Amino acid sequence: MQLSLNTPIQYVPRVGPVMAKRLEKLGIHTVEDLLFYVPFRYDDFSLVSPVARVQAGETVTVSGTITSFRNAFTKSGKKLQQAQLTDETGTLDVIWFNQPFLAQILPVGTQTRLAGKIDWFGHKIVMTSPVHEITKIEGSHTSIHGSMRSFSANQIESLHTGRLAPVYPETQGVSSKWLRGRIAFIIQQCIQQVIEYLPDSIIEEYGLIGIHQAIEHIHYPTDPKSATYAHRRLAFEELFFLQLRAWEERMLWQQTNRSHQCKTDESEVSQCIRSLPFTLTNDQQTTTKEILTDLTLPYPMNRLLEGDVGAGKTVVAAIAMYVAYKNGLQSILMAPTQILAEQHYTTIKSFLDPFGLQIGLVTGSIKTESARLAWNDKFDILVGTHALLSSKIKLERLGLVVIDEQQRFGVLQRGILVGKTKNGKTPHMLTMTATPIPRTVARTLFGNLNLSVLATIPDGRKEVKTWVVPKEKRENAYEWIKKQLNETGGQAYIVCPLIEESETLTSVKAVKTEYELLKSIFSGMSIGLLHGRMKPKEKTTALDRFRTQKDAILLATPVVEVGIDIPNAIIILIEAAERFCLAQLHQLRGRVGRGRIASFCLLFTETEDALTLKRLKSLETTHSGPLLADLDLALRGPGELFGTRQHGIPDLKIARWTQADLIAQSQKAVKALTSADPTLTSFPLLMEKLKNSTIHAAHQD
Ligand code: ADP
Ligand code: MG
Repeated sequence: MQLSLNTPIQYVPRVGPVMAKRLEKLGIHTVEDLLFYVPFRYDDFSLVSPVARVQAGETVTVSGTITSFRNAFTKSGKKLQQAQLTDETGTLDVIWFNQPFLAQILPVGTQTRLAGKIDWFGHKIVMTSPVHEITKIEGSHTSIHGSMRSFSANQIESLHTGRLAPVYPETQGVSSKWLRGRIAFIIQQCIQQVIEYLPDSIIEEYGLIGIHQAIEHIHYPTDPKSATYAHRRLAFEELFFLQLRAWEERMLWQQTNRSHQCKTDESEVSQCIRSLPFTLTNDQQTTTKEILTDLTLPYPMNRLLEGDVGAGKTVVAAIAMYVAYKNGLQSILMAPTQILAEQHYTTIKSFLDPFGLQIGLVTGSIKTESARLAWNDKFDILVGTHALLSSKIKLERLGLVVIDEQQRFGVLQRGILVGKTKNGKTPHMLTMTATPIPRTVARTLFGNLNLSVLATIPDGRKEVKTWVVPKEKRENAYEWIKKQLNETGGQAYIVCPLIEESETLTSVKAVKTEYELLKSIFSGMSIGLLHGRMKPKEKTTALDRFRTQKDAILLATPVVEVGIDIPNAIIILIEAAERFCLAQLHQLRGRVGRGRIASFCLLFTETEDALTLKRLKSLETTHSGPLLADLDLALRGPGELFGTRQHGIPDLKIARWTQADLIAQSQKAVKALTSADPTLTSFPLLMEKLKNSTIHAAHQD
């Protein structure tokens, strides 16, 4: 069978259905996926040494003949393999642990290369647990790499030894060693089919290497430098296309959607703003202007409003909804939870009631008057959960859709919203998020959106004093909290260590145990409980009790993370803080510090890991969401952006979000290219590539 890039991986020789299943776990489905499956490091076996020269401490490759091999046992009864390898300069002792099958693979007489570390073992130096690469089996002349000979300038004579050997993310039954063989094979078979999509001009301007060389060298670098060049090229390409796709989406959005073009009446708007119980911050003013300008354009707004917790995003949305209303249009505001929907409903109502708007609330659980009226299209503004998406709800004049906490909504829901197109017109879209998105990420992924940022918190808000509390200070901390609450009349959240989006039954049990414990610690104080498995009604009740100060303490799972606004809450205690990423902790912390009294965040942790503690301690000194998001990126290794995916930031395959330079360069390249040729007419290959990959990575949430 002739292999092509999109051949399912199962049909590659020596793969088959069983291996294919395993490879799926690594995200490898086709030949192309495997070609672009990049190593995360290399074992440096490039030092090739005659046996007589090897020294303890070195990692080397030696080449010779197996002159003895026996299976033995260690003193503790573990299986041990002892062998000797001889070349023209001498003989080297070699040992492996618990690999008895090697007796069949490396019988006496086998010519092989071995690569590994040289150590002292008793009084002798030995090579321990090396990888082997057979060069010639006694009596035969088959070199297993004979087939590689035709292969490029970078002669891959060996895959595992005598070179930088790629180490890949592995999974059960798929080793790097196995991957090397298959990848070398498909490089040889298919590399010529890989198309160079990047225009020459870009390759030249950014000093990139060609795609074929990049693929060869990312797997089989000739030296560390060539690996770096290869990585840079592939990472650039990944970022380039991510941004080109975002650009294309933006173009399509603007070209194919007509909007309900609004008129804004300055005096009406300022009257609305003047009626608010506070003055807008500068950022709120700027953002409001940006949004109102969007509303006047012939294509619908598609804007992301990012603002730290408590930055005051809701009021900005309310003003936009007011303008929509003045233009005879309806708005909906969709929140991820019922609690938040109810809170928004109250807030929006208090802001806009004076202007005579009809405002309704629709959540799944309450079959309210509102819901029924909504079916009859009676509202100017509907606030609710995803129950708003019900087809029963008629919004004939829908002009503006506001989505709060965007990361909780999938593409599908967004799609349905846009499906609310009427008379060939698409509603304006405003998405709000408190997730601090690192600048670099925002620029790359959200090129298809306009971005507004509320960078400052309204005046009068105090920084939340934050402490990391180790195990031994736990008791003191409880006492301190009691005292603090008694003296100020403030309230406290205690957040339980749940990090899953869906709260499981076992974790609910953990919360209940914690609840009993807290009751004894804070005896005499009234404690409420709020978790994701409660019925909506129970949740509302729990929150109402806390809001009306019937409960002094609310034990909650991270459902309090988003949006809840209770100014009398002055302390938040977070259990097992190390399980959260900084951005999440920062969001949780934002639940307090909303009133006039000084507020505190206590991060409980039992970890003794220095790096984790350092990470947590950065919250004591850093109070800016975007900075913490950057730190999150910097403090984590590639490919393990814990907690980011649920915030809608996809993992990159090759590039890293920390590669700010490369992101800037690829962004510059996309800008230059698309402004010189907005139709991409002179770049048919780029168009082809875009057509073949229409799904925006940012939407795979
Ligand atoms: P978030 O951006 O986290 O959604 P909210 O919109 O819930 O923030 O606002 C947080 C609190 O700050 C609310 O009580 C809101 O009324 C108040 N607020 C908003 N803007 C201002 C302002 N400019 N000055 C004072 N308080 C404000
Ligand atoms: Mg909010």
